[in-house]
Amino acid sequence: MAIKPITDHAYVNHPSGIVCPWCESQNVNFSGVAITFHGDSIGQSTSCGDCEKKWETIYTISGFEA
Ligand SMILES: [Zn+2]
Repeated sequence: MAIKPITDHAYVNHPSGIVCPWCESQNVNFSGVAITFHGDSIGQSTSCGDCEKKWETIYTISGFEA
């Protein structure tokens, strides 16, 4: 993995919501199709519309609803 510019905690708890970890832009795009399953978590391809970095936002699976 590449060196991350901010910690996971800072990414999840940013006061502006999900922002680019590199430039803090709120102009981020989530891919609806680029989903990767990692056991109990899912990675969603995410990109920045300003600095054009790409990264993966990780979601933890906590259960299901019927
Ligand atoms: Zn950016």
